[in-house]
Amino acid sequence: MADQLALDEVVEFTSGLIRIDTANRGGGDCRERPAAEYAAERLAGAGLEPLLLERAPGRTNVVARIAGTDPSADALLVHGHLDVVPAEAADWRVHPFSGEVRDGVVWGRGAVDMKNMDAMILAVIRSWARQGVRPRRDLVIAFTADEEASAEDGSGFLTDRHPELFEGCTEGIGESGAFTFHDGSGREIYPIGAGERGTAWLKLSARGRAGHGSKVNRENAVTRLAAAVTRIGEHRWPPRLTPTVRAALDALAALYGIDAGTTDVDTLLEKLGPAARLVEATVRNSANPTMLDAGYKVNVVPGEAVAHVDGRFLTGTEEEFAATLDQLTGPDVRWEFAHREVALQAPVDAPLFARMRTAVQEFAPEGHVVPYCMSGGTDAKQFSRLGITGYGFSPLKLPAGLDHQALFHGVDERVPVTALHFGVRVLDRFLRTA
Ligand SMILES: [Zn+2]
Repeated sequence: MADQLALDEVVEFTSGLIRIDTANRGGGDCRERPAAEYAAERLAGAGLEPLLLERAPGRTNVVARIAGTDPSADALLVHGHLDVVPAEAADWRVHPFSGEVRDGVVWGRGAVDMKNMDAMILAVIRSWARQGVRPRRDLVIAFTADEEASAEDGSGFLTDRHPELFEGCTEGIGESGAFTFHDGSGREIYPIGAGERGTAWLKLSARGRAGHGSKVNRENAVTRLAAAVTRIGEHRWPPRLTPTVRAALDALAALYGIDAGTTDVDTLLEKLGPAARLVEATVRNSANPTMLDAGYKVNVVPGEAVAHVDGRFLTGTEEEFAATLDQLTGPDVRWEFAHREVALQAPVDAPLFARMRTAVQEFAPEGHVVPYCMSGGTDAKQFSRLGITGYGFSPLKLPAGLDHQALFHGVDERVPVTALHFGVRVLDRFLRTA
């Protein structure tokens, strides 16, 4: 069991990490180094020899290895990112970088995404050092920079330049999973991440004939672009069920006593009620127009118009996704990938998944564990290039009324102390046996 000091330290570390402003605006001005040093000092205090690694000054990553008792076992990667998305202090009830602990709740940017998990990892590892615990498998602990932007200075850099640090790692756990989802009728569901949709950020360009805004113009770039953007935004993508999404739907259907086999996906989602939120974004691909840019004066038709679209695709559908975009954009609009990341798929019948399930159920016996696919992406995408199968497992027991999904990147991000204690206990239990 995690000791009392571990329960105290997880709160102290979550708060301490939040107080280090690692807001990542994507322009390369984030400085994770103080947070990396904070984590490294605490790993060193547990007798480990953490490495600090940077591609760019101040964009620091931390990696350490704990030797397992079974040298023939594959290693397990345990990772968390150190950067956070920015926060507008004026919108918050508590200053986002205060790390204030008020009425049993830790407040601030990163409280759930994901300095909480970083703190849990540190607290567990340090309690093991005090108790003389060694895990069965080698554990590789990685705290990364730059997850909230391109990952180029973080997990991308680590996998490209330091693959040797991850030698023997076949599986990994990281962001987003095993949190409490309240279905509104008293059930607690713990979704464990076993897949991620791929990322396809698109740039659309329409060309046309520039000219005076008062003249006839049938080759107007703005009109062409707007039509393509509307077609994309209104497109109804067909369901495409990956094994993880199928398993998620089956598990949820069983929980609610619905016969999933004969029901079409959209009807099933309706029947699932609030729990549909766990799967609705991952039963199909998506493409949301998000940015428009054209023109410089109201009476001048510009020669070009540009839009950006946030596309996400499921494992095995990338060609279909591209063909659909060709159709929707039509002959007058070109599209290209501005940024692309792979989709991930992890087996839900793996022994590791069963161990995660057991660890959650030990401390949340009333909870229902289900697999789920994440609608967006995490560092697991980068680590997958090293052959590491990634799961989303950052356990948190949240009270009803605290919406985990809304806290991610949200205003008043916060985490109850009891949720952190649950996380430490589950993580401790899981990592000992993983
Ligand atoms: Zn995150």
